[in-house]
Amino acid sequence: MSTSSYVDTRLLINGEWSDAASGKTLDVINPATGQPIGKVAHAGIADLDRALEAAQRGFEAWRKVPANERAATMRRAAALLRERAPEIARLLTLEQGKPFAEARVEVLAGADIIEWFADEGRRVYGRIVPSRNLAAQQLVIKEPVGPVAAFTPWNFPINQIVRKLGAALACGCSFLVKAPEETPASPAALLQTFVEAGVPAGTVGLVFGNPAEISSYLIAHPIIRKVTFTGSTPVGKQLAALAGQHMKRATMELGGHAPVIVAEDADIALAVKAAGGAKWRNAGQVCISPTRFLVHNSVKAEFAQAMVKHAESLKLGDGLAEGTTLGPLANARRLTAMAQVLDDARQKGATIATGGERVGTSGNFFAPTVLTDVPLEADVFNNEPFGPVAAIRGFDSLEEAIAEANRLPFGLAGYAFTRSIRNAHLLSQHVEVGMLWINQPAAPSPEMPFGGIKDSGYGSEGGPEAMEAYLNTKAVSIMAV
Ligand code: NAD
Repeated sequence: MSTSSYVDTRLLINGEWSDAASGKTLDVINPATGQPIGKVAHAGIADLDRALEAAQRGFEAWRKVPANERAATMRRAAALLRERAPEIARLLTLEQGKPFAEARVEVLAGADIIEWFADEGRRVYGRIVPSRNLAAQQLVIKEPVGPVAAFTPWNFPINQIVRKLGAALACGCSFLVKAPEETPASPAALLQTFVEAGVPAGTVGLVFGNPAEISSYLIAHPIIRKVTFTGSTPVGKQLAALAGQHMKRATMELGGHAPVIVAEDADIALAVKAAGGAKWRNAGQVCISPTRFLVHNSVKAEFAQAMVKHAESLKLGDGLAEGTTLGPLANARRLTAMAQVLDDARQKGATIATGGERVGTSGNFFAPTVLTDVPLEADVFNNEPFGPVAAIRGFDSLEEAIAEANRLPFGLAGYAFTRSIRNAHLLSQHVEVGMLWINQPAAPSPEMPFGGIKDSGYGSEGGPEAMEAYLNTKAVSIMAV
């Protein structure tokens, strides 16, 4: 597959692609080679001002489009996305590193999410509430919250945008996104489908630049009425504080540290297939990636051995090369982070059952890694590794495993494997997470809520709850005179 012809990315403002007013650009690097492959425009305040005015005009136009027509436009964009999936997936792999097959699934899932939200937008119902005075009619009306500022990360350049964009547009909001500077071309291709589908100018906008400068300017700006962010917990806390200071609605989808509880009665082959598959997808750079494997001591050795076998069966390489099942890490920061995590685990006495090292000297390749007998104080058991590392510890009772699952401040995803209904009930009631998958890999379908609790954030990016995040509720009472 061709690795050439990556495209440069410009800013999308008022329905048109343009360079930054300053002409400034940043390099985009291919994580499989470490080499620059293109450029992305770097917005300054003058560009942001233009994007904000456009978002305001876009909002005024888009909110007046009837919901069924909005749905039809969104469906046209989704159809274009499907049609262009191979080409967009190629851009995604070039800039982000994940295997082409995963990139293609991400693009197609993006189309599915847009379609689901398009249809959900047709069912934004208010209600009529019986009045205490029969001469009055009481209405509850749902209205779009207004122009949205979104901030999305590099691990799923398409998916992280569509969950926000789909819900916002379906509700009648306009949408201005600061997408990741490291992976800009696939988001641009996504937004182009909306331009071609016929959204009014300014309904969607795309900028890149200095993340802190852009977020502090947009969140504080009176045109922006809603903030939505996906990324790390420390940055999320800063942006949530800023949103609070300016009284902006906010959704925060932050880091996790997903426990995987493998009970005494689990189907071990299923657990390894499901959790192992999820572990190394996107090289573990996934907020819902399984990270803390808590395995009953009676099956721990069998489970660990099967995980090592699974890890060693993966084919590490360039995401565009035939047969690759594990790509490079998305940026050099992750390589440094993995080296630190592994040094710490070694020092604290964990056993490296397989992997544990960088592979090669060019590109960000890191071997799929399994650690066993990991002490609780090891960094990997406390901070989200965000990389291809599975850390395993034993337990004796399910209550002990649940206590460990809940020990950290995070509460995003959790997984469990058990054949017992009693255990499944106990886990579903007591594991403190926003999403729990039992006897299966993660299945984050658009119709189900997606989001965390505790330090993993608030708000949801799936199901009807995702729509609520982009709607205001207005109470109207009309007295007959
Ligand atoms: P980071 O914490 O600096 O950045 C995380 C994301 O937030 C990036 O997309 C970045 O552009 C953005 N960001 C940073 N500062 C910002 C600001 N002031 N305003 C707006 N956006 C801002 O670090 P990183 O090296 O890019 O990623 C490291 C960690 O971030 C990972 O270890 C992981 O824990 C977390 N992360 C989480 C997700 C997720 O899906 N929840 C995605 C990417 C990264």
